Amino acid sequence: MTWGIIGAMDSEVALLRDSMEVERTEEISGLTYYIGTLCGQKVIVVCCSIGKVNAAICAQTLAAVFKVDRLVNVGVAGALDERLRIFDVVVSEKLCYHDADLDIFERNPPFVSEYAADKDMVRLAEQACEKIAGTDFRCFGGRIVSGDRFVSENAEKQRIVGQFHPMCVEMEGAAVGHVAAANKIPFVVIRSMSDGADDNAGMSFDEFAPKAAEHSAKIVMEMLKLA
Ligand code: SAH
Repeated sequence: MTWGIIGAMDSEVALLRDSMEVERTEEISGLTYYIGTLCGQKVIVVCCSIGKVNAAICAQTLAAVFKVDRLVNVGVAGALDERLRIFDVVVSEKLCYHDADLDIFERNPPFVSEYAADKDMVRLAEQACEKIAGTDFRCFGGRIVSGDRFVSENAEKQRIVGQFHPMCVEMEGAAVGHVAAANKIPFVVIRSMSDGADDNAGMSFDEFAPKAAEHSAKIVMEMLKLA
């Protein structure tokens, strides 16, 4: 069983890459795939860069070229649910795009506008969170939305909350879910909050994203140990 693990920014995969035993690397479409073992599991760790298409290129390569059995998208996100604090973790249940006309997706093949994470992987991620969550952060499950924009205005935040009622917003998860669904590969997205997707998001992201990224990477490692 091989796990494909995707982060958009170097800070989101650095701990995983540094902790794994790398057997070899491969470059495809400008991305470097680190192939080896981590916490007793066969893994391929890769930094896909920011945004939906970059994430999709990466996930499809993991599916078609490397034939991974599991996909995990790890990283940081902007909190939308008011219960969430910085560093809290959201494990995806369902994902969709917040910047697309979902009605068109539903009317056309493959007639899907929302991507459901694998229930067993969600459970495993939640168990991993519970094991290492302490005073630093708490764990929530729920909907994650993705779009090709850094959400950093209260007005846009309110629009997204009103339309989708999600837990958090980021820029890759739904694309990974989309590719996973097309290839029938179980997946989950794990995100630690770096900001509140509001007028202060830019400053908050700069201050908290590195530590938040580390949290979510640690959860993935715990998940691999439990698997
Ligand atoms: N500051 C960087 C860009 C970061 S984009 C620059 O200007 O170059 C933000 C990244 O973190 C994306 O990969 C996204 O998935 C996640 N993210 C964190 N907070 C977010 C928010 N408020 N809105 C959208 N994506 C967010």
